[in-house]
Amino acid sequence: MAKHIFVTGGVVSSLGKGLTAASVALLLQRRGYSVRMQKLDPYLNVDPGTMSPYQHGEVYVTADGAETDLDLGHYERFTGIPCTRDSNYTTGSIYSAVIQRERQGGYLGKTVQVIPHVTDEIKKAIRSIAKDDVDVVITEIGGTVGDIESLPFLEAIRQFRQEIGRANGLFMHITLVPYIRAAGELKTKPSQQSVGILRTIGIIPDVLVCRCEQPLGEEHRTKLALFCNVDRELVIEERDVEHSIYEVPVDLAKQDLDVYLLERLGMHVNRQDLGAWRKMLERLITPRLGEVDIAVVGKYISLRDSYKSIYEALSHGGIAGEVRVKVRMVESEDVQKRGAEALLSGVHGVLVPGGFGDRGIEGKLAAVRYARENGIPFFGICLGMQCAVMEFARNACGLDGANSTEFNPKTPHPVVCMMEEQKSITRMGGTMRLGSYPCALAEGTLSHRAYGEKLVQERHRHRYELNNEYRARLQAKGLVLSGVSPDNELVEMIELAGHPWFVACQFHPEFQSTPLNPHPLFRDFVGAAREARDSAGR
Ligand code: GLN
Repeated sequence: MAKHIFVTGGVVSSLGKGLTAASVALLLQRRGYSVRMQKLDPYLNVDPGTMSPYQHGEVYVTADGAETDLDLGHYERFTGIPCTRDSNYTTGSIYSAVIQRERQGGYLGKTVQVIPHVTDEIKKAIRSIAKDDVDVVITEIGGTVGDIESLPFLEAIRQFRQEIGRANGLFMHITLVPYIRAAGELKTKPSQQSVGILRTIGIIPDVLVCRCEQPLGEEHRTKLALFCNVDRELVIEERDVEHSIYEVPVDLAKQDLDVYLLERLGMHVNRQDLGAWRKMLERLITPRLGEVDIAVVGKYISLRDSYKSIYEALSHGGIAGEVRVKVRMVESEDVQKRGAEALLSGVHGVLVPGGFGDRGIEGKLAAVRYARENGIPFFGICLGMQCAVMEFARNACGLDGANSTEFNPKTPHPVVCMMEEQKSITRMGGTMRLGSYPCALAEGTLSHRAYGEKLVQERHRHRYELNNEYRARLQAKGLVLSGVSPDNELVEMIELAGHPWFVACQFHPEFQSTPLNPHPLFRDFVGAAREARDSAGR
């Protein structure tokens, strides 16, 4: 039977619960255990797929095609274990299952209630991920303790632990210990109050992870232990990291958090193997070969979380190439207003990420053109590939007004158009082409060289595609179709002949990149940027 760790958050949001949960998962994994992770989100959307990135940051896509919370990206990047549909449930998905069952008469005439029916459904969700071969399941509860909407989840985990017994489940509470500058003191009161709220619903945390800017002194540990009912060694300090989020597990390991967790769960404390992780950190923090500047030109630039996986994958590319990647975040509308030269001059690479809607599109096209005409390494992802196709059609093939029908349904040259299978779909939410699909790579291309394989699997999230009727015209002017679906129906990758590194893909490679296993396209893009830097002598 799997052991369970439940992670809750107190005082404020944005404490990095997902990162802490992922770090704990890594530590247990590095002691030889098989770990699975899960996030339960208290909002009413069935999944974040229909939410604006400004609302909820990036929508992360799993291999099995679920649109999920971006914390799942951290889970995969830290542990390398793919998440599945069962790794993310929301209040919306739980209620819709309950309501559907009620409509089908599945409750046999009973009054359907939050307790027990909704809480039962939540417990079922937790069990769904605890398969036979799993040693530890880590379940993170989104939101902050004290929110009305997280109550059913907290009640469900309370019941769950009661049912499996103390020896098989732990509660880990992540809290904030703020530093009040004027008083020159760390304050423990908010944490005490947050634990107080948990206690009123019957949960006493076993572990307290304290997010703080300043070191937690012995007196604070003692005070927190005493007032929060937590053993002193399980009051853990999680200070802001200096260089990278990937330092968090190492900081937690220094306090033997993993050892205590295993002991509490009655599991053998196997030898810890963090060697590869530490080596990776060293390369990340002190790269041998300097720095490259990469521009990311997008429409949701003002919120860092909107392109989370892209920024992470770029840093992985840097780990592979032993350079620090400095990201210049460029708002596509600014490129539109001020011109590409003003915003992009001096960069060693340009990346245009995915997106929806026409705001800023012309700015993205200007960025593509600037990279194409100046021989600057270019990487287009999803909408970024579609922009590359539109730009090339307009400016290299003379197809004036070429566009995607997403932005101009009446364009004279619909070089990007809706996929056939998407045309009949009217329902939003989970209806795009989602998840992993195979892509066949053409030999002799940069794409093939990067992967070193003929057939790869990559994750998708789109409705539009390169219009096959334009293939020949684009190819005639030097666009290379370097990756296609195995039936040759969909163009999945393009590149440009005669350009140092101009590659774009319809899929999202950023979702499969990890610090220990940087994605080959990000690795080669960053490598090309480094070459561009060196040959320009800057
Ligand atoms: N809006 C485009 C489409 O639906 C691109 C999607 C994306 O970049 N994820 O095809």
